[in-house]
Amino acid sequence: NKQVILKRYAVEAPKETDMEIKIGKVKLKAPKGSGAFLVKNLYLSCDPYMRGRMRDFHGSYISPFVPGQPIQGFGVAKVVDSDNPDFKPGDMVAGITGWEEYSLIDKTLQLRKIQPDSDIPLSYHVGLLGMPGFTAYAGFYEVCSPKKGEHVFVSAASGAVGQLVGQLAKLHGCYVVGSAGSSEKVDLLKNKLGFDEAFNYKEETDLDAALKRYFPEGIDIYFDNVGGPMLDAALLNMRVHGRIAVCGMVSQHGFYDPQGIHNLYFMIPKRVRMQAFLQTDYLHKYAEFLDHVIRNYKEGKIVYVEDMNEGLESAPAAFVGLFSGKNVGKQVVCVAQE
Ligand code: NDP
Repeated sequence: NKQVILKRYAVEAPKETDMEIKIGKVKLKAPKGSGAFLVKNLYLSCDPYMRGRMRDFHGSYISPFVPGQPIQGFGVAKVVDSDNPDFKPGDMVAGITGWEEYSLIDKTLQLRKIQPDSDIPLSYHVGLLGMPGFTAYAGFYEVCSPKKGEHVFVSAASGAVGQLVGQLAKLHGCYVVGSAGSSEKVDLLKNKLGFDEAFNYKEETDLDAALKRYFPEGIDIYFDNVGGPMLDAALLNMRVHGRIAVCGMVSQHGFYDPQGIHNLYFMIPKRVRMQAFLQTDYLHKYAEFLDHVIRNYKEGKIVYVEDMNEGLESAPAAFVGLFSGKNVGKQVVCVAQE
């Protein structure tokens, strides 16, 4: 059973050398009386939040990984043996699994059964229909309080979360601008994902001026995936009663921003509401989300871009690549075919 093991906790940005590939032992049977089941992992998701679990820090909303153990993350898997009456061999499941070929899922399982649909790639259960897609949906509808015609800005816009935020905002009748870190991504945003405008933030010397160019009348909604200097620039450009959804701070490698945010004052004259959220706060909306997104996807009104790496061995590099923007779209690792 090939596995990706956390070798040691990461300092600053995670490195490939913080992980290693090992061959571990696994019985290809779920022990009798255990209530466990064995899955064959098919697709694994690389998500920025996992960086927090690679640090020796216990003050966050999720516990750190254990050195010497396989990395854990969202995945799509197939049940191959089971001692659990709710999960039968052949069932497809999505949720938290191990970065390994086979995982024994015990009673503390966080996997749900999924119904394969020939019109939807299985891997979408860690992207469009999984945690990132739900983050976009919950963040946009529940936190941003969007209204038709409003002006929306999304950072890390071509990524797993951002690309859906932009498309939901367009479906809602908003004007949408995205920022991303390469001309390829800017092209994707404008020509495939339906954003009204997009820009490469790495080519801008003055982020405030860039935002003023696309939002001469200001921003109603900023869906913030990055924090740091982009958040600071957005604070200078919010409209009266604007909303900022603080989704993530991928630009910060530690929990503290060494550069600091300077423009919070401007929230006062503009009466801006800035709210952080965790998608887990809104799980009661999951069925509604699936309904909305699947319907629009099948009608061709939503598309989804994935960046698929092949083989478990490629997982460490794929994960580390998130923090330099190597991924174009949702980063997934294909471990095995069904
Ligand atoms: P992405 O698919 O967008 O991948 C990460 C992207 O972040 C990279 O491709 C890169 O894009 C961008 N990035 C990396 N480093 C920097 C940097 N220094 N400055 C600016 N951008 C950078 O990730 P997700 O869509 O999965 O996640 C987006 C955000 O949402 C993250 O902050 C994540 O932590 C957060 N999140 C929050 C959840 C919640 O419940 N609150 C749940 C899920 C995700 P580019 O080339 O454009 O720079």
